[in-house]
Amino acid sequence: MKRTRCDTCGRFIPKERLEAMPGTHRCIDCARKLGTDVQGKKADISMDPETYKDLLGATRS
Ligand SMILES: [Zn+2]
Repeated sequence: MKRTRCDTCGRFIPKERLEAMPGTHRCIDCARKLGTDVQGKKADISMDPETYKDLLGATRS
């Protein structure tokens, strides 16, 4: 399986993040600091995918 490194800090990006944000080249820490690098789709909601998933879970009742 291909592992993707963060473009900003060089650490591996967790696969959970890659599943939530396919195409990202920025880890969670860097995305929180600098903003997401993925345009379109979920990126146009201005929050990180972890928060987004929490919201989806919370509102789907
Ligand atoms: Zn990083």
